[in-house]
Amino acid sequence: MFCELSFISLAFAHLSNNDGLCAQETIYFNAEGAQMNNAYAQRVVNLKASEIREILKVTQQPSVISFAGGLPAPELFPIEAISNMCASVLANDGQRALQYATTEGYVSLRQWIAARMNTTLGTVLDEDNILITNGSQQGLDLSGKVFIDEGDVVLCESPTYLAAITAFRAYGCNFVEVPTDEEGMNMDDLDRLLKTTDRVKGIYVIPNFQNPTGRTMSLERRERLAKLAAQHRVMIFEDNPYGELRFEGKYLPSVQSFDKEGWVISFGSFSKILCPGFRIGWVAGDKEIVRKYVLVKQGVDLQSNTFVQAVIAAYLEQHDIDEHIKTILGVYKTRRDVLLSALDRHFPQGVQHTRPEGGLFAWVTLPDSLNARHILDDCVARKVAFVPGGPFFPNGGHENTLRLNFSNMEEGRIEEGIAIMADVLNRHLKT
Ligand code: PMP
Repeated sequence: MFCELSFISLAFAHLSNNDGLCAQETIYFNAEGAQMNNAYAQRVVNLKASEIREILKVTQQPSVISFAGGLPAPELFPIEAISNMCASVLANDGQRALQYATTEGYVSLRQWIAARMNTTLGTVLDEDNILITNGSQQGLDLSGKVFIDEGDVVLCESPTYLAAITAFRAYGCNFVEVPTDEEGMNMDDLDRLLKTTDRVKGIYVIPNFQNPTGRTMSLERRERLAKLAAQHRVMIFEDNPYGELRFEGKYLPSVQSFDKEGWVISFGSFSKILCPGFRIGWVAGDKEIVRKYVLVKQGVDLQSNTFVQAVIAAYLEQHDIDEHIKTILGVYKTRRDVLLSALDRHFPQGVQHTRPEGGLFAWVTLPDSLNARHILDDCVARKVAFVPGGPFFPNGGHENTLRLNFSNMEEGRIEEGIAIMADVLNRHLKT
């Protein structure tokens, strides 16, 4: 474990304050030193700290130009409106808003979500298809509880979202990566793998502005994916936290909208359109399946935060969220444009990058001879951070890739950070 974390620890040593780095190292040495492995459940013995979380801990200093996190721009959180809604909920409905409530969640919020999905994603849902969760991340974990047995296989895009790998792996699944290109997961490869792989339980996809690549799955592939899942009788886990963040091009119907039999469970979130600190997301799917999620969630936390659900419901009733999303899109689009233009101008030949039409991330592929972890060491020495791409591949490899986040850094610093990265890359290419 030390080896896996050491490159980050060493790389950031001179940047971090004592708390940031030493706390991290102390946790590591205690975990190993205490020799607790006999006491731990098998499913946690091999759990590793997420490299991204470790990087995030030390990139929060203002002097670091960080493309590393996946954070929304905090200056866009509608703090005044939320403050007013908190006061209004407490004044008008305080007793209910501070009480236990049903596991399913606030009815008016579930109605809003179902209606929104029907309008923007082409589904046909009502509130009984929706369960409110603690962020969409909880939906992923609950999916593991509901569907995954030890030894099952989940097919996923290659690369895929790191915390989904962690969530599903905790239930003992193996990942088989499906080749992915500019239009998302390759459906011929998926078909082949569905025919040749034993114990496939589900297919995990992020069709819009994927984390980590920023790519979007084409309409044709969405339709074919839904068909293949029904034909092979496997679940699709459709993760859509970024779907509302489209800067250009046409909004596309969800994979779920093509499903006639209930094979698709989808996950949505208020994290990127309101604020992640609320930790409110949802699971949407066939009513019987959602009932299973409800039963499982009861054992986890009984319900999601009643007060925050009431505040969001009040916000949606009294404010125009589309106006708010428009503001977010304006800022993120500008940042994306600055990033892509800087990449085009500064990065050396032979380095490729994606051109996301929305979301928070772009993905960079370096020449095979370069290792993004080594590039990171040198960038961090010059106070620029990003996330190496290797951890996004559940079965390893691809060390010549990296992810860039553009939502949380003002334009001037994006330009400066990419110029520094380009200089580091040029030096590595010359040696
Ligand atoms: N899925 C993906 C693809 C993500 O990138 C994230 C985090 N940004 C999540 C799920 C979890 O988001 P949240 O729990 O905040 O809704």
